[in-house]
Amino acid sequence: KKILIIGGVAAGPKAAARARRCDPDAEITIVEEGSFLSYAGCGMPFYIGGTVERHEELMATPVGVIRDAAFFRSVKDIKVLTGTRAEAIDRKNKTVRVTNLATGETSALPYDKLVLATGSRPVRLPIPGADLAGVYTLGNLEEAQAIRRAVEQGARRVVIIGGGLIGLELADTLGTKAEIAIFEMMDHVLSSLLDPELSILVEKVLRGKGVQLFLGNRVERIEGNEQGAVARVVTTAGSFPADLVVIAAGVKPRVELAKEAGLELGETGAIKVNAYLQTSDPDIYAGGDCVENVHLISGRPVYTPMGSVANRHGRVIGDNVTGGRQSFPGVLGTAILKVFEMIIGRTGLTESEARRLGYHVESFICSAPDRAHFYPGSKPIIIKLVADSSTRKLLGAQILGPGDVNKRLDVMVAALSMGVTVDQLAAFDLAYAPPFSTALDPITHAANCLRNKIDGRARSINPLELKKRLSAGEELILLDVRTPAEFNEVRLPGSNVVFIPLGKLRERAAELPRDREIVTFCKLSLRGWEAQTILESLGFTNVSFFEGGIVAWP
Ligand code: FAD
Repeated sequence: KKILIIGGVAAGPKAAARARRCDPDAEITIVEEGSFLSYAGCGMPFYIGGTVERHEELMATPVGVIRDAAFFRSVKDIKVLTGTRAEAIDRKNKTVRVTNLATGETSALPYDKLVLATGSRPVRLPIPGADLAGVYTLGNLEEAQAIRRAVEQGARRVVIIGGGLIGLELADTLGTKAEIAIFEMMDHVLSSLLDPELSILVEKVLRGKGVQLFLGNRVERIEGNEQGAVARVVTTAGSFPADLVVIAAGVKPRVELAKEAGLELGETGAIKVNAYLQTSDPDIYAGGDCVENVHLISGRPVYTPMGSVANRHGRVIGDNVTGGRQSFPGVLGTAILKVFEMIIGRTGLTESEARRLGYHVESFICSAPDRAHFYPGSKPIIIKLVADSSTRKLLGAQILGPGDVNKRLDVMVAALSMGVTVDQLAAFDLAYAPPFSTALDPITHAANCLRNKIDGRARSINPLELKKRLSAGEELILLDVRTPAEFNEVRLPGSNVVFIPLGKLRERAAELPRDREIVTFCKLSLRGWEAQTILESLGFTNVSFFEGGIVAWP
């Protein structure tokens, strides 16, 4: 049996390796137009910044063996043709025409099963100057090497176009080596991953590290100097000098081969595949960044180009091209990244997405220490849970902060994958010892907060909504119930802030007017909620607390 795979980074090599394990006799060939194979594209930002010293580390096994063509041939009995481009698929004769890019020689490679793992390519902006020397995208290892070289050779003023995952990872990794400016067309960074009140917290961290952020700003052109190298970007906010520009404005699936072969594309523009990752031709499979996925919550097609997904696709394809029948259920759009000291994770639907899709959305933002507050190293995390209040099913989670986000994110991935309700989540038997968690894990706490809100027990306001109401001049009272020490350390500005520590609230409640809306708060939000219940027990009728406390104030 001849298995031919086009694309040699994540989905392709994974499919090849799995196919070999399932079928020792198959003839397996990978065609890759680039020179590097099976490398960790996700590691490129860390290579550019120097955390990963040598590019070879990105293409080595955990014990340091380089995954090159010789490795694939000797260890896995897989033939790899690098520097070779697949030009066209002849479905009738089951061959693929390929060109050796070094010699220009063409040949036709036969297949019984064909795998398209052609991935994606970075969007190149259609603006003047995008092809000047010193303007890069970050789509492959060659580009990563060029960017690193430019920084090592003294590029100081780095402009990143795009405040998405890749743009922010680059800012993080180059932040101590260069002056970074990010231009983002949308009103917030990470706008396709997070709700705005959480994006704002990421923006605060970036600005705190000296990154210049220009939001709601379009780059109109890039201008060069007399030598033809980049000199500045011209944007809707003015002109900014630049020694190096990286366009990180998203990626597009590489579908030309599939399209020309008459294979069906989906509504996202990526290749459409069934649950077995077969294209509209049952002998042609496709996976990784070139295909669209089904969203596990909404059931809708989505384009989620992630290395994690590409590898899972590869395994399923490797099974199926060797006679197996594995299915790939879909994705949650899970992502995690680090921006300086902040870790940002998300899975499922954001509140904005869920509202657009018509769910009865209820959400809660909860701040909590990631481990026992008395244990050294305890740091806060902020969890936003989104659920459908009519079914109580969870729809999504966004988790961020300097604390241990990673563990909670994966708990949420498991919960969402199993379609659990917020009540079931609250009952998870999560691990606890002081170095790792709190007796009620932040996830349990967040689930309980959301249950209280759905059940009408807790009346709370989203912090961004509150901020907007305050900016609009609404005369509500912001009641700070923290301790005097906390109040002296950091406080919210404005004349509507009244400070009464929680322990004094019962005796001093008479100082508060009964005819004005009162919004209580504390550092995290537990005392804010307690203050609400105290005031209500004393007959106040228009009291709420804002979610997430000072820690999550946008
Ligand atoms: P690709 O990696 O795009 O590889 C496709 C290969 O096919 C390419 O090498 C291309 O040359 C080859 N090819 C295409 N057409 C042809 C042809 N006609 N003939 C021959 N060869 C062809 N994902 C995560 O999950 N987590 C992360 O932290 C993360 N970080 C990232 C950081 C950066 C900077 C980037 C760029 C991506 C990141 N990703 C991350 C995404 C991840 O790298 C991709 O999802 C993954 O590489 C997709 O793998 P793939 O095999 O589908 O496609």
